[in-house]
Amino acid sequence: MALRITIFNEGYHERFNPISKEVYPNGMHDALAKAFDGEDVEIRYACQYEENCGLTEEILDNTDVLIWWAHVLHNDLPDEIAQMVQRQVLKGMGLIALHSAHYSKPFRLLMGTSCSLRCHDVGERERLWVIEPGHPIVQGIPPYFELKHEEMYGERFDVPAPDELILGGWFQSGEIFRSGCVWRRGYGKVFYFQPGHETYATYREYPYILKIIRNAAHYVARPANLNANIDCIFAEELERVPDCDRIEY
Ligand code: ZN
Repeated sequence: MALRITIFNEGYHERFNPISKEVYPNGMHDALAKAFDGEDVEIRYACQYEENCGLTEEILDNTDVLIWWAHVLHNDLPDEIAQMVQRQVLKGMGLIALHSAHYSKPFRLLMGTSCSLRCHDVGERERLWVIEPGHPIVQGIPPYFELKHEEMYGERFDVPAPDELILGGWFQSGEIFRSGCVWRRGYGKVFYFQPGHETYATYREYPYILKIIRNAAHYVARPANLNANIDCIFAEELERVPDCDRIEY
């Protein structure tokens, strides 16, 4: 069955920042979709300026992986939408949070921490290191590769210790960062991936970046036929317990 992917893009910079407009003329969501060229996928776009931010419970019920890019309008996202994304991850939907999505409402809800970090943007070089070469997310990726220009994100990244730390970033100005991390939340998986500042062609010019996003989508995707129940349920005894005081309901 085709992988059902929803790409959420805030969609602000590409419309109002001339540099981003030039780098991503069709929007960042269009560049991200190219990661799946030739794959058996169904891709849907959602932008924050659309009605209900382009997302409904029905859309997310039918989404295996939600990819999220946002930056300056985090606070304008209605809490109900962030809670809906959180609930869907708990029920098994995969979430890939990209770059400045570290501060998005859904990601912060799922982490339960501030998700703050150190940052500056001087157009420096980043070298990404593969920490777990055996991990499915970095199959086909060399031990390290470089991005000519990227915004610096540095530690401390205030997130819970990741369940899987897959990539590390080193920046020309001397900082380091946990650039590729996986957490399990409920029945779902969350992958955070740091590269992707809006004025650099990170999602257009670097096939390894797109390959990591493609691999990650398969890794975090909602498992087929998952019977997730996140409500408490009354459980009948599997075997009778003879010697205890029975409570009658
Ligand atoms: Zn940025």
